[in-house]
Amino acid sequence: MLQHRCLNHSAREAVARCPECRRYFCRECVTEHDGRAICSACLARLSRVTERQPLLLGWLTTPMAVALGLTVAWLFFYGVGRVLVKIPAEWHEGTVWEKLGTDG
Ligand SMILES: [Zn+2]
Ligand SMILES: [Zn+2]
Repeated sequence: MLQHRCLNHSAREAVARCPECRRYFCRECVTEHDGRAICSACLARLSRVTERQPLLLGWLTTPMAVALGLTVAWLFFYGVGRVLVKIPAEWHEGTVWEKLGTDG
């Protein structure tokens, strides 16, 4: 039987294998994370990665981002509204249809 030893404690018998780095560790060197026993080095690396996602989500839900989105939406509908106001005026005058008719 091949006995694995902890990477950090060569005197201790390994009880868990880190799924990230595939190395063996004793109970003291692994931490439960997402239902897996991960070594402290990989846990630090994973926590750094996962910390970035809340930051991005936090920026998206930030009041400033919401205000920016509302401003863009308001400008968009304001611009569309101005165009829509102009179009029916020409249609009511019939100039668009007359031009189409005479050219053909
Ligand atoms: Zn690891
Ligand atoms: Zn250890």
